[in-house]
Amino acid sequence: MFGKMLYDRGYVAATDGNLSVRLDNERILATPTSMSKGFLRPADMVIVDGEGHLLAGRHKVSSEIAMHLLIYRLRPDIQGIVHAHPPTATGFAAAGIALNKPLVCEVVIGLGSIPLARYGTPGTPELSETLEPLIPDYDAILMSNHGVVAYADTLHHAYMKMETVEHFAQIALVTHLLGRQQPLEGENLEKLIMARGKYQGSHSLASMPLACGLATERRNNPHDLEDNDGETTAAFRGRVRAKN
Ligand SMILES: [Zn+2]
Repeated sequence: MFGKMLYDRGYVAATDGNLSVRLDNERILATPTSMSKGFLRPADMVIVDGEGHLLAGRHKVSSEIAMHLLIYRLRPDIQGIVHAHPPTATGFAAAGIALNKPLVCEVVIGLGSIPLARYGTPGTPELSETLEPLIPDYDAILMSNHGVVAYADTLHHAYMKMETVEHFAQIALVTHLLGRQQPLEGENLEKLIMARGKYQGSHSLASMPLACGLATERRNNPHDLEDNDGETTAAFRGRVRAKN
């Protein structure tokens, strides 16, 4: 059903994308490789173990399964993962621009900030290496020159995070077209972050948005999280978390 929704909304083309669900500690249910996510039937799904070996199913396992297994390993709270190539968010990923400015209050509450991972060749350990440092702190990641991965406590919630990322990317694009951005800041931003603790619960590990001073586009070094005033993103998050 969520594969069909990704396809119908144009978040994937041809055989792009993949979805998975954690069945138990040893088994992951996942979409197979080289099949359109718009026309999958339950019998097409595959079940793999923690190393990605096929346990059940008549199709081949996707080469992107390693990314899913990494997320399940690093985040015991995650039960469902959606990977897709929605055009606007993937456009940001191809332009080297993270979606890390607090432009929309609901996105701050729901998702925090969406970082940009360096490029890694799909289906190789390189891709996992670029995602690994970001997975513990974020619930959705832009993958440079590739797409988006979103994950949550259910597959439904992971799918909704994917929708939020693409919708937010469209809004961010409109602000680019208008030539002006007016990010939330100061007390308004901190109030949202406190509201976020209430709505999402303390179990949510999704990262806080960057403080406005930090939210400059990081085309050259997306992992450089230190701003001009010397306050790091981690320090900012720590300050805000201490208030919650
Ligand atoms: Zn992909």
